[in-house]
Amino acid sequence: DYQEEEIDETNFKTRPPVVTIMGHVDHGKTSLLDKIRTSKIAAGEAGGITQHISAYTIEQNGEKITFVDTPGHAAFSAMRARGAEVTDIIIIVVAADDGVKQQTEEVISHAKASGCPIIVAVNKIDKETANMDMVKAQMAEKEMTPVDWGGDIEFIGVSALTGEGIDDLLENILLQSEILELKADPEAKAKATVVEASLEKGRGPVATIIVQNGELKVGDNIVCDTTFGRVKAITNDMGQQVKSLGLSETGTVLGLNEVPVAGAIMVAQDSDKEAREIATKRAEHARAKELSKSTK
Ligand code: GDP
Repeated sequence: DYQEEEIDETNFKTRPPVVTIMGHVDHGKTSLLDKIRTSKIAAGEAGGITQHISAYTIEQNGEKITFVDTPGHAAFSAMRARGAEVTDIIIIVVAADDGVKQQTEEVISHAKASGCPIIVAVNKIDKETANMDMVKAQMAEKEMTPVDWGGDIEFIGVSALTGEGIDDLLENILLQSEILELKADPEAKAKATVVEASLEKGRGPVATIIVQNGELKVGDNIVCDTTFGRVKAITNDMGQQVKSLGLSETGTVLGLNEVPVAGAIMVAQDSDKEAREIATKRAEHARAKELSKSTK
């Protein structure tokens, strides 16, 4: 009935945006992600921040933003195909000295298909050969017309080398985020998306996740696609052991029985029995499907 279908939004809270940076190889995606992180973390805070990590949260004027690295477009497509629409805003990086390249075009169609707001970061503006107008003209040809050319796409000049323009980019992300009115329920059953996962010696399956609803806590019984377990430990993006992760926060989770695939959705369950049953059923179903495929 109508009443029951109504989603109760009374507990909803504004959540930080999750941002993905995409672009042609060598245009500075990794450098930009690393520069944003190191320029926003107070000196002396936590150790291993020089190491590149796949997801992290920073603060800009007291507002949080979570960045996710998508290693290759295949992983991003896989995540999308699985319905894990973890990204709220897409940044397309284009090198100011190189312009639109084949992968830039792929990323454009990807980003358009996602329906997410897009911001173009024109990187390497520190270079003498940088040419912002060339990039704008090439992008306009792909129906990515800059705001100052009468279109609706913001172009921000940045340098991952010097840090120039990064504040501008972050302010722009926050503006877009405000328009999106991103909300989630911090009290709901925890739900998170796996960004990447691997088997680590002595630690077992390790999953890097982003929390999309509720709060994921140590001790939670979890199902993640066909895998399950109990959260044994959580490490946040600063490499610190924490008891929980809140909305749009990111970290690594220990305690799954197997390595989940990127894009898998992790959900907290009421009991370990429930978690095991759901995962086992899904695994059986997947095996049966495989079998019917191979006998055809
Ligand atoms: P990715 O393949 O998109 O992740 O690109 P990388 O971050 O690995 O950068 C490719 C190369 O461009 C590296 O040699 C970087 O040092 C260099 N680079 C990245 N950003 C800048 C920038 O803003 N200015 C300059 N001059 N070089 C940059």
